[in-house]
Amino acid sequence: MNKEEDFPEIIVTRRAGSRSIRMRFDQKGVLKVSAPKFLPKREVERTIFDNEDWIYKHFQAWKEENQKRKLLPGKEVEVLGRKVSWHIGDRARVFETTEGIEFYFPEEVYNQSNLPEKSFEKFLKACAQEYFGSTCSKLANQLGFRYKSLSIGSAKTKWGSCTFDNRLRFSCYAVLLPDDLKEHLIIHELVHTVHKNHGKLFYKSLCEISPDAMKKEAKLRKGKIPVF
Ligand SMILES: [Zn+2]
Repeated sequence: MNKEEDFPEIIVTRRAGSRSIRMRFDQKGVLKVSAPKFLPKREVERTIFDNEDWIYKHFQAWKEENQKRKLLPGKEVEVLGRKVSWHIGDRARVFETTEGIEFYFPEEVYNQSNLPEKSFEKFLKACAQEYFGSTCSKLANQLGFRYKSLSIGSAKTKWGSCTFDNRLRFSCYAVLLPDDLKEHLIIHELVHTVHKNHGKLFYKSLCEISPDAMKKEAKLRKGKIPVF
């Protein structure tokens, strides 16, 4: 493979307060180089050249990771027992069939925009509202907890949360978790309506409700968002 053809876009920014050259990849795989304001251009270029191997290696890793996260034609994900799949079509649309949900987008949309990801997120939000809305009220009744409200967000770093005044919030990506972990997540947040922090009393209460709570806690922590 020709290395020069397979190199990231590079954006150099000059900073007055900076003393050294820094390089990092942003979310879109662009190499952001920040250099001291008065450093000669050839010095910046030389540093980039000197780090060619590091840049190449990290760009490949970024591309691999990005490919895994992207929704592409042929991809299939199961959401609450329904098969969701992506296909090439002449325009953006979604079909509900006996098989499940089918998303169609023109080929260039898959490559050039995040419309497939955004549409899937919207779909997940609706699924999450339905699932968490009903399951949470059922579990709260069963276990004797009360909460003020429940909402669905699209956080990618946190499965759920409970505010000081007992408003529960779940990430729409949490519907992709296995059923037992989804229920455990709900119980976790419900216990927060009584114990706000992760102290001894919190875990005591959690383990009283489900005996293998600590195992599930560990699994939840390991789970990555989003999972596709
Ligand atoms: Zn917690």
